[in-house]
Amino acid sequence: MFKRSPIKKNINPFWLILISLTCSIALALPTYTVFYWYSTLEHPIKDTVSTVMFATAFTVVLYIVIFVVSGILYNKLSQQHSQTKELKNFKTFTDVLHRATSEIEVYETLYNYMRNMHIANQITLFYRNDRSSTDFLWQRITNERMPLCTMEPRNCPLIKYGRECNVRNIATDITCAYQLTEHKNGSYVCLPITIDNQTLGILQLYSKTKCFFDDTILSKARSYIEVAKPVISSKRAMQQLNKKAYTDKLTKLYNRNFLETYLENQIKATNLAKDTLSVIMMDIDHFKNVNDKYGHTTGDAVLVLFAQVILRCIRKTDLVARYGGEEFIAILPATDTTTAVGIAERIRESISIEPMPRFNDTVIPHITCSLGVATYPIHADNKNNIIKVADIALYKAKQGGRNRVEIYNSDLDFNIHINK
Ligand code: GH3
Ligand code: MG
Ligand code: MG
Repeated sequence: MFKRSPIKKNINPFWLILISLTCSIALALPTYTVFYWYSTLEHPIKDTVSTVMFATAFTVVLYIVIFVVSGILYNKLSQQHSQTKELKNFKTFTDVLHRATSEIEVYETLYNYMRNMHIANQITLFYRNDRSSTDFLWQRITNERMPLCTMEPRNCPLIKYGRECNVRNIATDITCAYQLTEHKNGSYVCLPITIDNQTLGILQLYSKTKCFFDDTILSKARSYIEVAKPVISSKRAMQQLNKKAYTDKLTKLYNRNFLETYLENQIKATNLAKDTLSVIMMDIDHFKNVNDKYGHTTGDAVLVLFAQVILRCIRKTDLVARYGGEEFIAILPATDTTTAVGIAERIRESISIEPMPRFNDTVIPHITCSLGVATYPIHADNKNNIIKVADIALYKAKQGGRNRVEIYNSDLDFNIHINK
């Protein structure tokens, strides 16, 4: 059940009554003594009725006093307990944050701690997942079935202006244009996670109760965000550094180092899914001639162009890396040989008609490339072998006259040995 605040959550009337009763029972003896003393008094109006009235009045007053005193004490203790719990929670939050290995893990930690605080009916954390310096996706962490809004990052006023959004009563206030009409009542607040003037995340809290988010709740949520911000910042910086180590300087594609780790993980995932994974090995035909005729700088420009053509031809789920020199490799998860050949053919055709850069007003002739295709686990049983057999298929394509796609088959091993 949803509770108004962590402090009130600790005050349970049952315990209050139990404490009062226990105190009353403990005080039964002195009560009895007072009652006995009164009955022995020589009083002019003393009779049975007045004795009972005195006893009743005394007991009622005693109960009220005990109830009020134990209520105050209990409230104080609850507050102290709640504050200690909050401090402890905050401390573990910062500890867990610093152990996070990625930016996404920081967002996940923030979300989980906010959820455990029971300060809203629904919590959603939107975060910006940067895929490259220019390309990013907005993703969300939530457990809700009916979202509060259809987040439109381009138009979200919070992202545009980086300001908090606080709707105290959905029924009467002006709400965000993207808030779903299914939520007719209650209140919500969207808190930005802004670093260096860039909104990288949004913490959205929704309550079924109107005017729910008071200053106590908001400052609590803000303090958690503030602690998470420097960690997000450092994880981003770290990711960028790692990216540098894994990126080819010239083409900005992933390099061989990254490919090795990536392929190993993808093969594990392929095994778990009992699926197939294909690899395309590509090499520019007679590239040495381009360097020799037009110079190394032009050769570099051709390499960059070739990388862009490959990226255009593969899917979002595929990965391409520069394997070395003018040789590139594409990893296609959950892809069979036929589909991989289709993609390889698309690359081959596209590069053969791609307009080439100019060199001293001379247009460089079109280039072609040769491609070898192999599929895990059909053609090889591990990471190293799948690259090896894709390379053998590429060699066959070169042998067969270049500008072609070849699929690996085990007969090729034999032919290659003879020809070599
Ligand atoms: P093939 O059709 O058999 O592949 O012939 P090729 O000329 O493409 O192959 P070869 O291996 O003989 O030559 C590859 C050339 O690629 C030689 C090397 O100077 C050039 N190369 C490798 N890396 C770079 C680079 O980063 N920039 C430039 N401009 N050239 C490079
Ligand atoms: Mg070549
Ligand atoms: Mg080569």
